[in-house]
Amino acid sequence: MNWNWTEIYQEAQSYLQELLRFDTTNPPGNELPALEYLKNILMRNGVEAEILESAPSRGNLVARIPAAHQQSPPFLLASHVDVVPAEPDQWKYPPFSGVLEEGCIWGRGAVDMKTMVIFEVMAMILFQRRGIPLNRDLILAIVADEEAGGDFGMKWLVENHPEKIRAEYSFNEVGGFSLEVGSERVYPIQVAHKGALWLEVVFKGRPGHGSMPHDENPVLKLGKAIDSLAKPFPMKPLPLARQFLSALGKSSGIGSRILLALLTFPGLGEWILALLPKEKKNYINALLRNTVTPTGLKGSQKANVIPSEASIILDCRTLPGSNHQEFVKALKKRIGEECEIRVIHDLGPYAFEPWDSEIFQIIKETILLNDSQARVTPSLTVGFTDAKHLEPLGVKTYGFFPLKLPSGFRFGELFHGHNERIPISSFQWGLKVFIEALQKILSPSSPA
Ligand SMILES: [Zn+2]
Repeated sequence: MNWNWTEIYQEAQSYLQELLRFDTTNPPGNELPALEYLKNILMRNGVEAEILESAPSRGNLVARIPAAHQQSPPFLLASHVDVVPAEPDQWKYPPFSGVLEEGCIWGRGAVDMKTMVIFEVMAMILFQRRGIPLNRDLILAIVADEEAGGDFGMKWLVENHPEKIRAEYSFNEVGGFSLEVGSERVYPIQVAHKGALWLEVVFKGRPGHGSMPHDENPVLKLGKAIDSLAKPFPMKPLPLARQFLSALGKSSGIGSRILLALLTFPGLGEWILALLPKEKKNYINALLRNTVTPTGLKGSQKANVIPSEASIILDCRTLPGSNHQEFVKALKKRIGEECEIRVIHDLGPYAFEPWDSEIFQIIKETILLNDSQARVTPSLTVGFTDAKHLEPLGVKTYGFFPLKLPSGFRFGELFHGHNERIPISSFQWGLKVFIEALQKILSPSSPA
């Protein structure tokens, strides 16, 4: 099969620019017009697609190309089309302009995750257009509401239309883009992510007037409670974290290699962690243990009123294997039994076995074919994705959004950041790798 990449890049690029012009800021989301636009592209190219509405002006697009010879269960391409709010006055180019400037396509969602939406749409229409015989159904699910937890998006789709998206494997966001380590590039492929548990720790007391202080003021208890959280939870280096650190080590100079190797040694971890530069330390720390981050305080609305209740908001992130009920118990013990803990949001950690499947091997092989300076490693990520919502359907999700990024490009800061943009060269490289990997998975005998 001869792919005309120049034409494919141009087509994909124009779709991306157009998609970035739809304001899908969540809240409120308002994803329908963007989904209609994508549905149109699919239908025009002969791919059957439908939009399943989960709320007024919100919905989820599902499309499917049936297998020519069904040999395996379906493969799912998953993505979300909503984005987080942008502050236009902080941007160099307007966040919903989709302009091509300075070698990049700019817009809220360029990184998270409208570019991958377009990779997936392109895969569908290219396979359909060229009549590539698939060995399994290829399903596309572009959902709403990922940025607010998925109640109107993937969670809704899994609960209301499981049969439309049930698959053996899926590709989704977070993973597959290059990290610059020494003179090499490391491509982490997400096979697990931490859980998120958002809590409100409430203290009760006796209300009163601020002019007459007393010791049953619940606000006084907050300080102590926060102090009790300063001590980190014990390190628990999981095999996946070790593997990721070892991949980083192999690409680093000898000094960093030794540090990273010693990091997971019992008793040495805390010492080594303290020696790492700050930007590395924070990420690696989060990889190695459960974390608790106080993110908010609530008390009286008025300066002269002692409230009857005061509370701390906590963002807790848990490693695969953690049980959230046990975690809350341990937390309560640490803070003091007197507090009440309310759960605001609870999404468990995600992991699947074996991650080292034929799919992983194809991802690895395709990246290495297209970047000889690469190292590919499975990874555990500290943020969460829709992968967890797909778990009840038995879907095994790889975070595979392939991008070979230019040296010095600070990609990580662009997730939810100002001036979100994607370099054209990375976009083109990624689209090619994505299509090639999928073709190997879905149609191994058709020539690339
Ligand atoms: Zn995202």
